[in-house]
Amino acid sequence: MIIQLKQDIPSVQKETLIEKVNGLGYTVTEVKTQVGAYLIGIGKKAFDIRKIGALDGIQDIHIVSDEYKLVSKKWKVKPTSIDLGDGIAIKDGDMAIITGPCSIESEEQIVKVIEHMKENNLTMMRGGVFKPRSSPYAFRGLGMEGLKLWYRLAKEAGIKIVTEVMQVSQIEEMYDYVDVFQVGARNTQNFNLLDELGKADKAVLIKRGISGTIEELLQSAEYVFSGGNEKLILCERGIRTYEKASRNTLDLNAVPILKSKSHLPVVVDPSHGIGIREFVPQMALAGVMAGADGIIYESHENPDKAYSDGQQTLNFAQSSLLAEQIRKIFAMRKTFDLL
Ligand code: PEP
Ligand code: MN
Repeated sequence: MIIQLKQDIPSVQKETLIEKVNGLGYTVTEVKTQVGAYLIGIGKKAFDIRKIGALDGIQDIHIVSDEYKLVSKKWKVKPTSIDLGDGIAIKDGDMAIITGPCSIESEEQIVKVIEHMKENNLTMMRGGVFKPRSSPYAFRGLGMEGLKLWYRLAKEAGIKIVTEVMQVSQIEEMYDYVDVFQVGARNTQNFNLLDELGKADKAVLIKRGISGTIEELLQSAEYVFSGGNEKLILCERGIRTYEKASRNTLDLNAVPILKSKSHLPVVVDPSHGIGIREFVPQMALAGVMAGADGIIYESHENPDKAYSDGQQTLNFAQSSLLAEQIRKIFAMRKTFDLL
């Protein structure tokens, strides 16, 4: 159960409410976000809304029996829009294109990517400065120094930064230089990290875990939301299956399913999803048709020289073409009467 509280509810009224709901056999968690205040009631008993519906301080009550609640569409039908400022947003009814290298490598590289983005009217740049690598000997990112450099150049160009945060202690130091914190597939169930991101007033893009289910992704998002942060974006990036012909299995089923279960925007990452450069465009466009609100893909001036994930990274000519095709397919999708 979700009880939406009135914004100005006096604390005495709230306490009375909590006692009452406890008395009905529910345990109550209080949630306060940038946008609203809620009481989440967890319990098994059948619940008669009329018993509390008329009490002071309540805006609305919703019965949501799923494991995830605040991220569910069952109580909030209107899609959530993630506003990054300067007219840039990730939202339903729009097509966000996020591109950039797997890893931030150098000033020269950042400048080239930004130039490429400006030429294509792209405003959201991805890149890792803290890289989760399967091997400890692989390039692990430029760290804070790289982020600060990137921030200065991106800000000048009016470009927003999407970058991965790997641990709790990085949130604070990265905070001023980031527009969207990315939670990587290896950290989707790092619940301490999710809890702390709940305290941040900053957008968070959560990737689906390497072997994570759709429900687990939604529950991870619920951690952040219930921690106090509603600014969430879900990302399908492929899962590990028995199939070895591609790096991962991009589960495009997840897109309409997530869109139907949650009010949060959904983006697709075809680069990690298939892991093969020449097939990234097709999967990106399939993601658009599947109903994604955005595509995040890797690009680099010279992918074969990239420090990481070069095999799945587009060069600038391929990236320009893909951005154009994404826009075309999205315009076409809008004329179809799909969900
Ligand atoms: C990345 O975006 O470069 C990345 C490491 O992604 P994932 O967490 O999906 O593997
Ligand atoms: Mn990568």
